[in-house]
Amino acid sequence: MKEILYTSTRGKDTGVKASEAVLQGLATDGGLFVPETMPVLDKSLDELAGKSYQEVAYEVMKLFLTDYTEEELKACIANAYDSKFDTEEIAPIKEVDGVYYLELFHGATIAFKDMALSILPHLMTTAAKKNNIKEEIVILTATSGDTGKAAMAGFADVPGTRIIVFFPKDGVSPVQRKQMVTQKGDNTFVVAVEGNFDDCQTKVKQLFGDKELEKEMLEKGFRFSSANSINIGRLVPQVAYYVYSYCTLLGKGQLKEGEKLNVVVPTGNFGNILAALYAKLLGVPLGRLICASNDNKVLFDFFSTGIYDKNRAFVLTTSPSMDILVSSNLERLIYRICGNDASKVSEFMNDLTSTGKYELTDEMRKEFKGFGAGYATQDQVAKTIHDLYEKTGYVIDTHTAVAACVYNKYKAASKDETKTLIASTASPYKFTKDVLTAIDSKYAGMDDFEMIDKLSEISKVEIPRAIEEIRTADVRHNTVSTVEGMEEVVKGFLK
Ligand SMILES: *Cc1c(COP(=O)(O)O)cnc(C)c1O
Repeated sequence: MKEILYTSTRGKDTGVKASEAVLQGLATDGGLFVPETMPVLDKSLDELAGKSYQEVAYEVMKLFLTDYTEEELKACIANAYDSKFDTEEIAPIKEVDGVYYLELFHGATIAFKDMALSILPHLMTTAAKKNNIKEEIVILTATSGDTGKAAMAGFADVPGTRIIVFFPKDGVSPVQRKQMVTQKGDNTFVVAVEGNFDDCQTKVKQLFGDKELEKEMLEKGFRFSSANSINIGRLVPQVAYYVYSYCTLLGKGQLKEGEKLNVVVPTGNFGNILAALYAKLLGVPLGRLICASNDNKVLFDFFSTGIYDKNRAFVLTTSPSMDILVSSNLERLIYRICGNDASKVSEFMNDLTSTGKYELTDEMRKEFKGFGAGYATQDQVAKTIHDLYEKTGYVIDTHTAVAACVYNKYKAASKDETKTLIASTASPYKFTKDVLTAIDSKYAGMDDFEMIDKLSEISKVEIPRAIEEIRTADVRHNTVSTVEGMEEVVKGFLK
């Protein structure tokens, strides 16, 4: 099989092996690793149609992570996609009201981040062994709410690793906060930051790029890495569920051979939808990839105008995991759109840092074909949850509702009848308050756990283990930091 090597979107690091890219996270020039050539599936979709999630994941991941042996990859997959998930299907597809909802929230923390973060620690510790890394791996992660918990669940008590999570103090849901501050594991450390997600993410990126700090840490026996979706080890496992979805629908006769399937993705950092693009490039007949934004509609504006402009007010919405103005993974799309021109990407990213915006040429904008974009306001999100429940009894979370709303608008405007898959990215239990009050405002006065019980009653969906666990869990983390103080917090934990 052809070896796939990785290159930085900003051009400095090239010819990097997959396992090295997984260990490193971000490239040394601040760019993101992308495959130098895009692989294609070496089995037909028909052959994959009857296979389990784990088997499909292997067929996809082996194409990207070519320096892992078959044995290593299969062990990583077996360790990740096991009874931590509450269904053997791992990623079940529900047909509701004429669309397919791909439920990606059946893992340990009931958000789609589990799909990648349950395997990343295994990919990383395997990579450390392969590359004779002796230092302890320290994961630094900025989270808008879901990544942090999912990353800690993955890394907790994994030998040879530690994890530090920064979350925006006032920017996460009550359940998300409780999930994080009750995290167990001696190697985990959680910090509430007085700032928004972009502040956290920008500071973490700066810490990664700080050569002085890196040297100091290496001397103490620590090596930083990232569990954010900038890590190729997170992106690759996400490609698997799009391939799996298509093949499963094909196997069930819900798609005919070669029939297109549109995909709608509630988008924040642009990782999930980029994985859909990679699945399409592997040869899966996906149709339009529709990027759904909330009120922080930077990406909608970008796809509409070719101008990326983060100079605007940051809105705290009911879909906090999408409250992002700087979508890191977009850099990987820009790289493709520029015809793999790293100097052009560097120029854009410098513009973004200095002026907060950049503008694509008309030539580059032509490469948007194949994408769609829309956004949903918070009122529209609430109405979407309400109407779908009234019509079908199916309850979706606020993030999935952004996608469902954007899909409804897209379909009305385009008359496109192509079958459609909506990435359902979180369990409604993670955002109980907003979901329940969208269904009926009479529930507004209840406390968090009364609401959870009520949601179970009206949705007839069992309360997930992840929620039952936090009912009684003790708070173990209460560190608060300013954005400027984050570096000292890291040094303090690694004393
Ligand atoms: C992270 C997250 C998103 C956004 O995904 P990206 O890959 O960052 O675009 C959407 N919904 C939920 C529930 C999330 O946790």
